[in-house]
Amino acid sequence: MSDCIFCKIVAGEIPSKQVRADDDVVAFHDLSPQAPVHVLVVPRKHISSLDEASDEDRALLGRILLFIRDLARELEIAPGYRIVNNCGASAGQSVFHIHFHLLGGRAMGWPPG
Ligand code: AMP
Repeated sequence: MSDCIFCKIVAGEIPSKQVRADDDVVAFHDLSPQAPVHVLVVPRKHISSLDEASDEDRALLGRILLFIRDLARELEIAPGYRIVNNCGASAGQSVFHIHFHLLGGRAMGWPPG
């Protein structure tokens, strides 16, 4: 997607503080961190939101979760961390390329706002 900021980050066209990447998934620091560790985990494939994901994306979405598991260990926030996916504008999604926030390094409240 030519006008997608996360596609541009994945392609290296705009800078990011990358943490980890493989053939399918890229993780980089959020510009506006909400916790001592706040990393965004995105697929290289452009999917607008979880609601737009298809059954073909089943394996990719599973890989993302296990990527996050390994990343949380590397960042030394395991075993206590939060994964957030805002799906849709009403849930707070502002970038329409599916992404998972990985937050850790502090205690988390519930319910989220
Ligand atoms: P969401 O509101 O769930 O769509 O999350 C989008 C996130 O992307 C926000 O936490 C922003 O701070 C973050 N963000 C936006 N632009 C960039 C960027 N260029 N690099 C890193 N994080 C970004």
